[in-house]
Amino acid sequence: MKERRADFPILNEKINGQPLIYLDSAATAQKPARVIAKIQDYYQHQNANVHRGVYTLSQAATDLYEGARDQVQTFINAANRAEVLFTRGTTESINWVATAYGPQHLQAGDEILVSYLEHHSNLVPWQVLARQTGAKLRYVALDEAGRLDLADLHHKLNPSTKIVALTHVSNVTGVINPIAQITNWAHQVGAVVVVDGAQAAPHLPVDVQALDADFYVFSGHKLMGPTGIGVLYGKKALLEEMQPVQYGGEMIEYVGLDEATFQPLPWRFEAGTPNIAGAIGLGAAIEYLRSIGMAQIAADEAQLTTYALNKLGAIEGLQIYGPTTGQDRTGVITFNLVGIHPHDVATALDQEGIEVRAGHHCAQPLMRYLGVTATVRVSLYLYNTAAEIDQLVAALVAIKEYFA
Ligand code: PLP
Repeated sequence: MKERRADFPILNEKINGQPLIYLDSAATAQKPARVIAKIQDYYQHQNANVHRGVYTLSQAATDLYEGARDQVQTFINAANRAEVLFTRGTTESINWVATAYGPQHLQAGDEILVSYLEHHSNLVPWQVLARQTGAKLRYVALDEAGRLDLADLHHKLNPSTKIVALTHVSNVTGVINPIAQITNWAHQVGAVVVVDGAQAAPHLPVDVQALDADFYVFSGHKLMGPTGIGVLYGKKALLEEMQPVQYGGEMIEYVGLDEATFQPLPWRFEAGTPNIAGAIGLGAAIEYLRSIGMAQIAADEAQLTTYALNKLGAIEGLQIYGPTTGQDRTGVITFNLVGIHPHDVATALDQEGIEVRAGHHCAQPLMRYLGVTATVRVSLYLYNTAAEIDQLVAALVAIKEYFA
């Protein structure tokens, strides 16, 4: 991991006079120099609007933008490039599914199955859809270690279940859900599965066909791309029957005075000038990740996570939430120091240049389920090192002593 650090210019920054130790990649990941350079290069040398011009520059911009779609297709192994829609991010992608797929397929008495692990982005759109349609929102319970209770999930699936919306990886506990098994069960009752891949796509190899996900969504900025760009993958047959969410330029074919016809997929959903630089930056980030290899990234992270869990677990009075053993977790580690408010912990760590998240992590139902109001969250990525974990642990021990 050490040699990769040179790829990230921001890691040379000092925070409060200390070298930056960035442990909040679950919120957003740092960007390699080549992603930053690619965006600058685009604005300096190829900037034009896409899908319009017969002129050279517009063609160059279009090739780059559509090339990024091809890179996403390969990255998640989608069967068809038409199944890859660019959005603003995970939140927008889920909202699109809820608004463009939901109302046509749900009626009063139907059920939407979610879990207590969900980020608000994969909860509130379904709450609103349930209220609109008279459908019922049901929650899968968690087991003692914080994993999905699969028996409860299986039990709650029934012919009224129309949508199962689950995270692939929890942004609070790092637990990895067995999505392939769940899609298999859900399809047996005729439900479609929406997978929130925000915390998975940056960290694990993702194959949407092997998972048999009906919809799979993620954000560019968490996988080292820029903010404001994300992906909605959907099976072609499902996307074909969905109405666009927005209307306007780019997505139309013919416009008369009273009506219009629309482009085929994927452009039918991409109304207006898209985030061209964002897509190109995302493509560059994917190229960077693939140059290392997602399996390698996952293996390295698993090793560092085990190291961190052992070190943190050895601090007396530090309680970790979620599984502390096993291969089914990523490097998102949530904990509290008994008797010290998580905001105090995060503020004290910041004085040492150590950037961590404290709060409810956009998962208030999960916080209540765990019986806490807030936690400290450390999240690892491919630029973090064991030496940084050692510094974190030393700082936590010092904070504990200070507050004692
Ligand atoms: N889902 C999960 C699991 C997340 O961790 C996040 C971001 O923290 C989101 C959804 C929302 O992502 P975005 O804010 O990029 O739309």
